[in-house]
Amino acid sequence: MKYISTRNKSIKVTSAEAIVSGLSKDGGLFVPETFPKLSAKDFEELTSMSYPERAAKVLSLYLEDYTYEELLDYATKAYSRFYGDDPCPLVNVDEDLYVLELWHGPTCAFKDMALTMLPHLLSAARRKTGEDSKTLILVATSGDTGKAALEGFKDVEGTDIIVFYPSEGVSDMQKLQMMTQQGSNVYVCAIDGNFDDAQSAVKTIFNDKDIQAQLLADGYKLSSANSINWGRLAPQIAYYVSSYCDLIASGKIKLGDKVNFCVPSGNFGNILAAYYASLMGVGVNKLICASNVNNVLTDFFTTGTYDIHRQFHKTMSPSMDILISSNLERLLFEFSGRDDKLMAERMDALKKDGKYSVSKDELNELKKIFAVGFATEEDTKEVIDNCLEAYDYLMDTHTAVAMSVYDDYCEATGDEDTPSVVVSTANAYKFPCDVYEAVAGERIEDAQKAIKKLASFTGEDVPEPLKDLDKREVRFTNVIDKSEIAEEVLKYTRK
Ligand SMILES: *Cc1c(COP(=O)(O)O)cnc(C)c1O
Repeated sequence: MKYISTRNKSIKVTSAEAIVSGLSKDGGLFVPETFPKLSAKDFEELTSMSYPERAAKVLSLYLEDYTYEELLDYATKAYSRFYGDDPCPLVNVDEDLYVLELWHGPTCAFKDMALTMLPHLLSAARRKTGEDSKTLILVATSGDTGKAALEGFKDVEGTDIIVFYPSEGVSDMQKLQMMTQQGSNVYVCAIDGNFDDAQSAVKTIFNDKDIQAQLLADGYKLSSANSINWGRLAPQIAYYVSSYCDLIASGKIKLGDKVNFCVPSGNFGNILAAYYASLMGVGVNKLICASNVNNVLTDFFTTGTYDIHRQFHKTMSPSMDILISSNLERLLFEFSGRDDKLMAERMDALKKDGKYSVSKDELNELKKIFAVGFATEEDTKEVIDNCLEAYDYLMDTHTAVAMSVYDDYCEATGDEDTPSVVVSTANAYKFPCDVYEAVAGERIEDAQKAIKKLASFTGEDVPEPLKDLDKREVRFTNVIDKSEIAEEVLKYTRK
């Protein structure tokens, strides 16, 4: 199976090439030429498999340059870094309500599901494509991707990784996790600006032939660990297939039954993977796209116009503080009937005017499968407290956004019987100040103190990767202006 660019279908590459390059050279995103389907027999086999086997099976249908055995080897290595028996347990919190916990990895956020796999996929792709320059991974992060990518790529041969994060746009825990990163091939730098500034600057470097020539002279080629990279997105499809298999295995549903997935969304990668899983045969009633008050996606799915001219809010769910959701491009590519010219025009309009619209027909089709909503900061706190009360379940701020939007969805539609999976994207201890305030009604500004308070309040253990962060050596304290990103990258590669 080949991969094509959303902005020019005549650009065709192999899966290994798509993963090595990250972004298509025309600025488009790579998508599979067709979507593989899972048969009833496939589902039966998958249902009795372990998670690494399920992931390898799903990936093998997309990544034809890799054998199933290779993929199983990578998945086994990747998911052995997770704590607990199951890398992504599906927890039944109420009758028809489940929480899919995607945060049992080395950095306690769902990004680990893909970023523990990506370095294996990328290293192998370098071998398979005969790449001999070093791969430079450039990451713009709203908090969780950065740390997860650093952990995934640290000391991986043939790669270096540079992470830019908005200096005031991530939580204290996230910042500390990144500033204390170990590894000889890593660099972390804060920028004055928000996530979109960081992402746009990184994207500009990807499209700048001059900088790329300079990097090549230093022996480097760029790649991306953001969810624009297919190697990042593909492993995310696996956990939707897997949770559906878990529901079948538990007897809750039969193959073909439909379920809802409610996903706290930012860059739209996670929920896009759910949509791709539905194309493979996972029964989906509604994909509920949950936002915080940065509700550009809610407005888009309501009006058909994507418009970034709006105030940017810093919230307690910072990984969703995003105005430009890159992966929407992949979704709209499908809903436009794979119209690459139209997508190129829309993305140009987004760059020039900050907005574009889809047709009424497209919007109607989108609404058949997507439901949307957003949660305010108050809603978020209330839901954390209520869920601890009602279900004895402690959740982080991002998951709470999804839970709040799911509640609103049930109320608005009366749909309370469809088995529903709320996707949980971070461990509660990653956002201890806000979570503690929500459950205890007391604000503690110091994250380390809040962690201890929260642990004694709930009687739960602090996950290992978040323990004693304040005792680790701080290695990266640099802060630059967003206009200096390119220079900073070249400074690193010249060293
Ligand atoms: C990245 C992230 C999200 C948003 O996921 P997208 O794939 O960007 O939509 C939500 N919650 C957490 C905790 C995250 O780290």
